[in-house]
Amino acid sequence: RLLLITIDGPAGAGKTTVSRMLARKLGYRYLDTGALYRAVAWTARSADVRPDDDRGLGDVCALLHLRIEGSRLVAGGEDITDRIRTPEITMLASAVSARPVVRQALLDIQRDMGRDGGLVAEGRDMGTVVFPDADFKFFLDATVRQRAMRRYRQYGREKGQSLSRIEADIRRRDANDSSRDIAPLKAADDALTIDSTAMTARQVVDLMMAHMAG
Ligand code: C5P
Repeated sequence: RLLLITIDGPAGAGKTTVSRMLARKLGYRYLDTGALYRAVAWTARSADVRPDDDRGLGDVCALLHLRIEGSRLVAGGEDITDRIRTPEITMLASAVSARPVVRQALLDIQRDMGRDGGLVAEGRDMGTVVFPDADFKFFLDATVRQRAMRRYRQYGREKGQSLSRIEADIRRRDANDSSRDIAPLKAADDALTIDSTAMTARQVVDLMMAHMAG
């Protein structure tokens, strides 16, 4: 039977790396739901829709023609994979993700993608809201300093962002994501929480595989 596996957690906890590795190991598809919120943010900005304009955001979501082609994300025919990875879009994604109109629109898209199982879904509310009946749920965490360090090594250095700036952004995003009224970031009751601070991605994946093997 094909399983549905969810991985939630704060920014920089290693969700993307681990989810990709796990999906590859199992021969499953991988769904990066953060990219969907980033796509909404990017499209809203292109259309001059502010992140507190619910009606505008509703239109943006209704007209959002998202396609996932391999590891590329295409919105309205345009490949936005790299454009959604800027600090500006990151903060904008966090802002639009607090709007119920956006979460509701993306809910259907995400559930549709998970329908047949064989999926590793990564995000903030995969185990709590989107896939409450998932076969296995994980919550990946790490200290703020460690998460900021990972981001810095990933792309901060080459883009000229300082470690302290990245850490401040992560703290702000943590606060936004945890304190919003709708689908706040938290571990599902039946999730296994893994603190990855002192672990490699490989070790985290091995731990998950062992857990699922029972
Ligand atoms: O995971 P990523 O950093 O790409 O997500 C960008 C933003 O999208 C997060 O800061 C969060 O506010 C939002 N998000 C969310 N629910 C998800 C995935 C992402 O609210 N399932």
